Amino acid sequence: MFEKYKFTATERFLRYVQIDTQSNPECQNHPSTEKQKNLSELLVNELQSIGVLDAETDDYGYVYATIPSNSEKNVPVICFCSHIDTAPDCSGTNVKPLVHKDYKGENIILPDDVSLILTVEKYPYLKSHIGHDIITASGLTLLGADDKSGVAEIMDMANYLILHPEIKHGTIKILFTPDEEIGAGTAKIDLQKLGASIAYTLDGGEAGTLEDETFSADGVKITIDGVISHPGYGKGKLVNAIKIVGEIAASLPNDGWSPETTEMREGFVHPVQIEGIAEKASISFIVRDFETNKLFEYEDRLKSIAEGVLKKYPTATMNFEVVEQYRNMKEVLQHHPNIIANAEEAFIRAGLTVVKEPIRGGTDGSRLSFMGLPCPNIFTGMQAIHSKHEWIGVKDMEKAVEVLVLLAQIWEERS
Ligand SMILES: [Zn+2]
Repeated sequence: MFEKYKFTATERFLRYVQIDTQSNPECQNHPSTEKQKNLSELLVNELQSIGVLDAETDDYGYVYATIPSNSEKNVPVICFCSHIDTAPDCSGTNVKPLVHKDYKGENIILPDDVSLILTVEKYPYLKSHIGHDIITASGLTLLGADDKSGVAEIMDMANYLILHPEIKHGTIKILFTPDEEIGAGTAKIDLQKLGASIAYTLDGGEAGTLEDETFSADGVKITIDGVISHPGYGKGKLVNAIKIVGEIAASLPNDGWSPETTEMREGFVHPVQIEGIAEKASISFIVRDFETNKLFEYEDRLKSIAEGVLKKYPTATMNFEVVEQYRNMKEVLQHHPNIIANAEEAFIRAGLTVVKEPIRGGTDGSRLSFMGLPCPNIFTGMQAIHSKHEWIGVKDMEKAVEVLVLLAQIWEERS
């Protein structure tokens, strides 16, 4: 069905990445950087010019738009979502995208810093792009494929559907969000205005990747109140909270239970911060697992380790505080099997092998899923993200557009 169509995702991508949209974790504003709005405004103009007439952006930099249904059926309203910001890890100013035509498997040397070399040894996935075009930055910045590839693919999907009214689909909502990279992508989202019942983020890697599972996550803070006295006369009285907190950290198991000793489906308990003075000190942890119940087991075990240390200091006291952070999106998605089944069907029709891998982290999709908008994650092709090595294959971007069009069509067919 795509034979006569000229894909525009690459051309769009090359333009979008040149607009600096880096978000700023130090800033509490929404958006965290005003410059993100430059891309929001451009996207609204482009959407209107291709015929998506209600496209609009708001004070926070979100973009909302609708491709109206052309079907008589009652099709669920689906949303495709990407984020416009780029990661604070690496400069996003003056990005110079380079298209390496007809890649043959050679080393790709980035011209503005020739010490940066992409090789198939380092990035074996390059091999599947031999004979096709690769896009990189020039060596001084990240590329911004995360997530402007997703933005470009959604824009090209919109263009395709507008140009091909013979393809039946329900109402399609488009959503572009700011500040995803600093964990604030859903902070000011207006789900009422969006009006979708399901969503897909385009924010994944290799072609064929479909992510429907994230960690469940809690934070734990253990605060110790010691006993303070003049240190010159502290004998038998003074109890130093800093030392107790240090002992708790030292009592954690060495053979597992940490990011450095776990992988795949294993969870962990990870101390991330120690703060305090002799009188009062605290140690904070992040607790992660794919099964929410396991978090509670980990927290019980952590508490008994801390209590074990405290026993030696009967005059010190402990406060053990748990804060829920996010939950595995699968807990929501399992109640909506069509969302994954239809995506898998779209992948298969596009000739892809479906690769389902759990994400050892959280996504905006996990937050959206628990806000009432079930939302797995689809590949865009992005590779080596958040770095100057970041690259993407053009054929993956075109595949992602195909998948989106097919997905819109499959939801209509099956309604
Ligand atoms: Zn991303």
